[in-house]
Amino acid sequence: MHHPSSTPDDDSGVLFGLDALGPGPADADQRPSFRPSFRDSAAARRLLPVREILAEPAAAASPRGRQVIARFPEARVTTVESHWRIPGLHGNEGNVDRWVRIKGETLVLGEKKTLATRPNGRSADWIAPGTSNGCAMACAYCYVPRRKGYANPVTVFTNIDRIVAHLARHVARQGPKTEPNQCDPESWVYDIGENGDCSVDALICDNTADLVHAFRQWPTAKASFATKFVNPDLLALDPRGRTRIRFSVMPPDDSRLLDVRTSPVAERIGAAADFLDAGYEVHFNLSPVVVRPGWKDAWTALLSHLDDVLPTRVKRQAAAEVIMLTHNRELHEVNLGWHPRAEDVLWRPELQQAKRSESGALNVRYRNGVKREAVETLRTLIDRHAPWLRVRYAF
Ligand code: SF4
Repeated sequence: MHHPSSTPDDDSGVLFGLDALGPGPADADQRPSFRPSFRDSAAARRLLPVREILAEPAAAASPRGRQVIARFPEARVTTVESHWRIPGLHGNEGNVDRWVRIKGETLVLGEKKTLATRPNGRSADWIAPGTSNGCAMACAYCYVPRRKGYANPVTVFTNIDRIVAHLARHVARQGPKTEPNQCDPESWVYDIGENGDCSVDALICDNTADLVHAFRQWPTAKASFATKFVNPDLLALDPRGRTRIRFSVMPPDDSRLLDVRTSPVAERIGAAADFLDAGYEVHFNLSPVVVRPGWKDAWTALLSHLDDVLPTRVKRQAAAEVIMLTHNRELHEVNLGWHPRAEDVLWRPELQQAKRSESGALNVRYRNGVKREAVETLRTLIDRHAPWLRVRYAF
């Protein structure tokens, strides 16, 4: 999972055993001309067969908004007052069955009003203001959409120029990084994809391209985003080493069950060398780690696969984040409506503890002992099967 700062671990709240709670409430413009854009391909259209665009008026009138609307000429454009709380779209009521369909067929255009860069320190030094919110994929464990309700398609923020200008000022204020840390020895790392997947956003518009291009002018900073989607259009963006792409990987059996609509894991791994050769730094997110019967063997096979297929040049610069599964009672209830089999592995009260967040949500993670042992196990497996893979952090 890619969204480093919004994990339930960040919410302050009281820890207690999950089973003590009783039953919950139902509760690129520089593309070489010989390569046609992937985003115009049938495969891209299958992921995003957009039929409806809900747009704030200013967002629709902006250059980026007009670009998006022009890309989907068949889509009906409807004006909305705010990209927040769109009746009939956000929230889960009545939408469970349509959830996955909405994610591909609907887009929202809005303007990001408050621009703030927040410190992180784990996945990245900083979390940049996202240029989107929501995702066309539908991973069963994803907590990105929880603030808008889980039936949440991509909202594209059209004021990309303001976002880039905000980042330019922030980067300038930091000056050079003088102390190396695990985020990066030399550069300030900015996560640009906290609330979505930048590879999918690049199917919709040039926000991702604009950020990649901005970061290559800033020698003290580096962009970083995690992804579960292989978008070959990104290969043409010429990031010059200033963008780190983190391919999320998990055992293919888990992925087939949980990562709905994403690129297959083997394809993500298979793309690593191409992205390195195109100028990206390529890391891996081992996430989420789902403890289930057979998980150790499955991760052993995955690590051996990485060791077998990745060329030395990828291994030499690779690093990994290890992130244990977190979950959420409300998401659990929603998933029971559309993908109950996923909950067999995601919702494991005997292994998990819950924490009430400030907003009242009930977030769930592995009990301390379970988590500690699992992280240790995974570190041992990495040492044995993929010793070249430096673990940047594990939690
Ligand atoms: S790919 Fe999309 S649905 Fe999956 S975890 Fe990331 S943001 Fe969520």
